[in-house]
Amino acid sequence: AAKGRGRNCAEFYTRKMGADAERHLMLQSAMRTALAHGEFELCYQPKVALPDGQMFGMEALLRWRRPGHGVVPPAEFIPLAEETGAIVAIGEWVLRTACNQLRRWHDQGYTRLTMAVNLSGRQFARQDVPALIRQVLADTGVPAASLELELTESILMSEGTAVTDALLQLKDIGVTLALDDFGTGYSSLSYLKRFPIDVLKIDRSFITDLASDAENASLTRTIILMAQSLHMKTVAEGVESVAQLSFLRRCKCDAFQGYFFSKPLDAEGVTGLLRDRRCLPAVVRHQRGRQTL
Ligand code: C2E
Ligand code: MG
Ligand code: MG
Ligand code: MG
Repeated sequence: AAKGRGRNCAEFYTRKMGADAERHLMLQSAMRTALAHGEFELCYQPKVALPDGQMFGMEALLRWRRPGHGVVPPAEFIPLAEETGAIVAIGEWVLRTACNQLRRWHDQGYTRLTMAVNLSGRQFARQDVPALIRQVLADTGVPAASLELELTESILMSEGTAVTDALLQLKDIGVTLALDDFGTGYSSLSYLKRFPIDVLKIDRSFITDLASDAENASLTRTIILMAQSLHMKTVAEGVESVAQLSFLRRCKCDAFQGYFFSKPLDAEGVTGLLRDRRCLPAVVRHQRGRQTL
């Protein structure tokens, strides 16, 4: 019976792998025309500072709306785009679209707003990222200081000096460099010293159970202290509750992002938020009055 079960199991996995592989190929093929057909969209999620709930920046997040299939999440299609190299053209589109949108918001008077764009390691491997950034800033008229690039730890782990050189050039251009999902990769302290990183984004997995998990709470506190001693700013991802927010504030985390303030919205939705300055949920305004935050 055990043998039979084993075979069924193996069959199940083979079939599942086959189905996954088929879906991957299908998506990779659909992706080839997606840019030209205008199927990509950006949404934007605010980064908020306290005590006043100021939305000082936005993060651009990519969406692929496949006609007749709904929205494919980036966690599913970005690794596939990295495999085929489509990420280069897509990444360029993201940068241009995000910077054009930021230009519009600057023109509407929100002149201090920043824009963060996620970059994939493959982009560094396959193209001259600093040259691209210079070009996009020149084309869109966005000041370098208004652009932030979110990198993952895996980019820093790549061999050789090419990435170090690229990051130093990016610092020379004047853009801000943030390390995304901090704490989920190798988080080697030597990377933080070696690379010109300005901002640590603490991964959502630490924030999720801050209230119930003492280890995550102390890790979060330690990450913030470490960032301070290295003169880096901290942003907490995935803030969903006032309890998480109070804890992070006590730790002197600099900024916050998460559904508690706002989900990612389309440009129009964000313009509405900016106009109403509506990014401080009522519960925070209330607590602030009582000095509990
Ligand atoms: P990320 O850069 O760490 O972005 C944060 C993700 O967490 C986003 O998912 C966002 O919608 C989600 N999120 C934000 N606040 C909360 C919250 O309070 N609770 C929960 N449960 N989730 C929250 P999304 O948009 O699905 O993006 C997933 C990842 O895909 C991003 O993680 C980023 O690594 C990647 N990505 C997105 N857009 C791009 C892009 O243009 N280029 C590249 N290379 N990667 C991208
Ligand atoms: Mg990010
Ligand atoms: Mg992140
Ligand atoms: Mg994340």
